[in-house]
Amino acid sequence: MTEHWVVVGAGSGGCVAAARLTEDSSHKVTLIEAGPDLREGSVPPAIDGSDFLAAAEEPGRTYVELSATRVAGTSARTYQRGRGVGGSSTINAMLALRGDELQYEQWGWTDTEAAWSAMQLPEEVAEPAELGVVDRALLAASPAAEQVKLNRRNGKRVTSAEAYLWPLAGARNLSLRPDTAVDRVLFEDRKAIGVQLANGESVAADRVVIAAGAIHTPTILLRSAIANPGIGQGLQDHPSAPFTLSFRDGVDQLADGLVAGSILQLGDLQVLPMNHLGRATPGMGLLLLALMRPCGITGSVTLAGSDPAAEPVVKFALLRDGRDLGVLRKGVALVRELLNEAAFDEIVEDVYIDGWGTKLEELGDDVQIDRWLLAVSGDYVHASSSCAMGRVVDDRGVVLGYEGIYVCDASVFPSIPWVNTHLPTTMLAERLTSMWRVDSSRSSSG
Ligand SMILES: Cc1cc2nc3c(=O)[nH]c(=O)nc-3n(C[C@H](O)[C@H](O)[C@H](O)COP(=O)(O)OP(=O)(O)OC[C@H]3O[C@@H](n4cnc5c(N)ncnc54)[C@H](O)[C@@H]3O)c2cc1C
Repeated sequence: MTEHWVVVGAGSGGCVAAARLTEDSSHKVTLIEAGPDLREGSVPPAIDGSDFLAAAEEPGRTYVELSATRVAGTSARTYQRGRGVGGSSTINAMLALRGDELQYEQWGWTDTEAAWSAMQLPEEVAEPAELGVVDRALLAASPAAEQVKLNRRNGKRVTSAEAYLWPLAGARNLSLRPDTAVDRVLFEDRKAIGVQLANGESVAADRVVIAAGAIHTPTILLRSAIANPGIGQGLQDHPSAPFTLSFRDGVDQLADGLVAGSILQLGDLQVLPMNHLGRATPGMGLLLLALMRPCGITGSVTLAGSDPAAEPVVKFALLRDGRDLGVLRKGVALVRELLNEAAFDEIVEDVYIDGWGTKLEELGDDVQIDRWLLAVSGDYVHASSSCAMGRVVDDRGVVLGYEGIYVCDASVFPSIPWVNTHLPTTMLAERLTSMWRVDSSRSSSG
């Protein structure tokens, strides 16, 4: 008997879910994505290329109305999420990091090895000639800095769509509906029976997978009136602090080349070099300091109204916990040490710490540093844990107290991964779908 699965959202989690479910010929899979398609042979050059800042400027590929408060008391600013087939994998910086197995063990995930080996995303380091000025300075300044693997093949981005959906082109049991937003899940008692689209149309299903990402998955569950106060709560990101570098005259900068090809990971901190800030800001680069193991208070996603087109109210509660502030403060000292190294001194004229021309050297004692961090701290575009396992879904991704409804994206991490979130989300989706396949084969043989 054919089982119809509807998967909502074609991002890092949704592409894996749709592909793995389609591999079972007893399934019919409909993948519904709010944004535009991404087809082999017609990928915009900005998405294919090395400059992720340009990728995010592709029309229709981000949620331009979406904003978020990072630190309580500061104003909401644009928050980037990928939109369209491939989701955030079409606009991300391609850094391919797996994280710390210790964290996954703490969550009781004993099957990560199989999930990593199933993963279809290629990884490669950049050619030395591609590395930009800040990459080269970071690699020279710290023996702990290293070139990072990127989700690319022969210098071209490989999105989750390319890795998981393109090989299925022509599969008769998969249909893709781009440019189609889902409003809510439909239930009979507490069993999912389909979804209602934003245009009012209903799509019937035996099982529904929500994979709309850590910002939009909670909005769909909230509009579906699922009775669980945990939906949208627990939202996390990695707090970050920017150090804008203004280059000395004559520094040779590729203003549309690879943005980041290396990384420095020290304890709970990460320093990401950015070789340029896009064509509109020549002569500038960045060191972005990020706290990868925040221990603090978490934020929320709540509905701004019942209109499915309205973006939610997103509040991260970054740095509300003094311990997080303390670690980031140590990171400021680390960045200062790096910038004092000859490799940076050769290329950097000035370092700015805000948009008003304040220089790093003006930052004094710990009180001043804390005040600055609370004013300027941003996110790391790694929204997570807004429908966390244990609170909203069980360890198979099934929404607690309901039947036939699953979540498969970065919203279900029990807490934020201690690393950049694309590979962990892909691994998570491989894990969940392998469990569902076992469930399906049991129910069809039983
Ligand atoms: C600019 C940027 C840079 C990043 N850089 C890195 C990096 O270098 N390395 C790394 O590891 N991570 C990086 N990340 C994070 C990583 O890409 C994400 O954590 C990951 O892709 C999230 O996957 P997801 O499946 O949860 O959501 P997404 O990939 O965001 O997919 C969600 C999908 O659901 C769709 N959707 C939303 N609402 C609806 C609806 N109502 N109906 C239908 N569809 C809907 C969206 O359009 C989207 O396509 C970056 C993210 C961004 C934005």
